Amino acid sequence: MGKINVLGFDVANLIAAGEVVDRPSSVVKELLENAIDAGATKITVEIKNGGSSFIRISDDGCGMEHEDLPTAILRHATSKIKNADDLNEIMTLGFRGEALAAISSVSKVRIMSRQRGSEMGSLLEAHGGEIQSHIKSGCTEGTTVIVEDIFYNVPARKKFLKSDRAETSAVSAVVEKVALSRPDISFRYITDGGLKYLTQGDGNLQNAVYAVLGRDVAKKTVKVMRQDGGIKVQGYISTPEYASAYRTQENFYINSRFVKSKTAQAAIEQAYASYIPSGKFPFCVLNIIIDPSSVDVNVHPAKLEVKFSNEKLVFDAVYYAVRTALDGGIQRPTLYDEPDNIVSGKGKELLQAPFPVTDRSEKTPKAEKIVFDTNSNFGILRQDNTINYSDLQPQKSNAPVSRPSNDYADEEAFSLSFPKKQEQKAEPIRVENHNENPKILGDVSDFDEKTDEKDGTTSPNDKIVPDYKIIGEAFNSYVILEMGDLMYLIDKHAAHERIIFEDLKKKLSLKAPSSQVLMLPVVAHLNNEELIALHQYGDEIKKTGFSYDIDEKAVYLHEIPSEIEVSGAQDAFSALVSRLAAKEGYGELTRYEHFEKALYQASCKAAIKAGRVYDHAHIKWICDRVLTLDNIKYCPHGRPIAFEITKHFLEKQFERIK
Ligand code: ADP
Ligand code: MG
Repeated sequence: MGKINVLGFDVANLIAAGEVVDRPSSVVKELLENAIDAGATKITVEIKNGGSSFIRISDDGCGMEHEDLPTAILRHATSKIKNADDLNEIMTLGFRGEALAAISSVSKVRIMSRQRGSEMGSLLEAHGGEIQSHIKSGCTEGTTVIVEDIFYNVPARKKFLKSDRAETSAVSAVVEKVALSRPDISFRYITDGGLKYLTQGDGNLQNAVYAVLGRDVAKKTVKVMRQDGGIKVQGYISTPEYASAYRTQENFYINSRFVKSKTAQAAIEQAYASYIPSGKFPFCVLNIIIDPSSVDVNVHPAKLEVKFSNEKLVFDAVYYAVRTALDGGIQRPTLYDEPDNIVSGKGKELLQAPFPVTDRSEKTPKAEKIVFDTNSNFGILRQDNTINYSDLQPQKSNAPVSRPSNDYADEEAFSLSFPKKQEQKAEPIRVENHNENPKILGDVSDFDEKTDEKDGTTSPNDKIVPDYKIIGEAFNSYVILEMGDLMYLIDKHAAHERIIFEDLKKKLSLKAPSSQVLMLPVVAHLNNEELIALHQYGDEIKKTGFSYDIDEKAVYLHEIPSEIEVSGAQDAFSALVSRLAAKEGYGELTRYEHFEKALYQASCKAAIKAGRVYDHAHIKWICDRVLTLDNIKYCPHGRPIAFEITKHFLEKQFERIK
């Protein structure tokens, strides 16, 4: 007798269910996807006890015919594909025809459905996949699926359910991701009888972020919108002020389908590397719109992972989209949070109270609704599956695009008055060029990226230094500066570090970068890996202004970049080369990105130190640069370099004004 059995239909279904349905959150995910595929504009998700006793998903989608209800719960029953070819062009969320079969085989299910325009609806009830009843009945248009007692017939699996609380948060995470993927659909989410949130469904992603994640998160976002190599990346990312200890807030979507993508994750984290400290993670809701034939969504049971035919293209698209948004869209941090709807400088709410705060209850913004850009659609795939690829023309990869629009930044409350403002009354002073070669020559290899001003305005060095006064320095670390109605606290080390970094980076695109010739060479001793790195990156290193001879493992520096003090040259050079030699964890980085990272290290070593005294001219030079380079808000390691405090804020703190 042979030992191989062909499994019965019911056993096969249970095994399949194990793949698709492992806990209530996966049921919710599948049912939500069905509702979306049905073209719903309003979806309600309700759970009780973390979904283990009760899950309800109601939609106003197309509904099902009476005869289709029993078929829907059969395995491989789907209306979404017909043949193998269709698998190559999947635009719906579901396509395997497995979910309803799997869910109904491990729970008690009721499906109520009425087709649009049809007189009567139907009700089907099944326990463990066995149909209990199937009758015509009155119900609203659309479909409601109720799933009760999940795993009642699979005790082994029921044992693995976690606490109600843990299951609830898993469901919440799913609903959140789906709700953010479709701002054009209104989602109502109810747990144990309480309404958690309701999204408007007006197509505005930022409104959805506000409803789902709250005001604090929604306020600290920058819009992303860029297309590169035929891939469009759009959505919102957090400003550097928002940094989470966890990765859970990184939400990626491929053609509006939520996915986990290591590639996209690596790309965004690299892009933030000079904005937030390492070990912290940004928030993002990014939709990657790509030709469906270049993605395989059929590689994971829950369709959570995808494979791209060209991972590098996707990495670059995400990386540059995020960098463009960050470089162009962030504001200098303040010590307090600006409320909405008010003119800059009037009424502040403390974010991290640096000073004693009086009762601010009456100042809490009354307006619940933040007015967001109504055009910030998410690049949604419509139900009719149309996606406009004609506007996805491939463009030269890695070229900076025009400055992204940051809707928030355009709003008064967020335009935190900085040098951009033209109405400086004070006498302007010209700042000298600190580079001997300030003009940007636009020819050099791939090193020309982002060194140019994004929107074609003047080079930062040509900017006018506003009139200001240095008041002093606290703890030999923080320069206090007064300018108009603003006071700044500048971290002198962090600021200097960023200035050096920006200058060195800029030199990579110059034909004849400036350097200083040393009377006596400075000697640096390198190990083998570092010597190899020195050879590999010799061109770039020389462009920054170093020139040297190598004798065995000793490197004699004859010239160093003009930005670097002689006393710090050896440290800076060693840091640069040692970072270049350390390749770990940067597999996805391009040569440019790798070099850029090493430059952070060198800049840090070359910068003046906190806690030490430096002459006034040096400090003033740093302040001039901080006030003229509006792209320096954070040090290359992601810490803020300056905070601003308004006069108005201080007057309020001292209760001079109401
Ligand atoms: P799939 O989504 O992979 O097609 P499912 O088992 O999830 O498989 O659903 C089977 C079929 O039942 C779907 O193809 C669809 O025709 C129908 N269906 C499921 N849920 C809904 C719904 N909420 N509204 C309308 N039709 C639905
Ligand atoms: Mg489905």
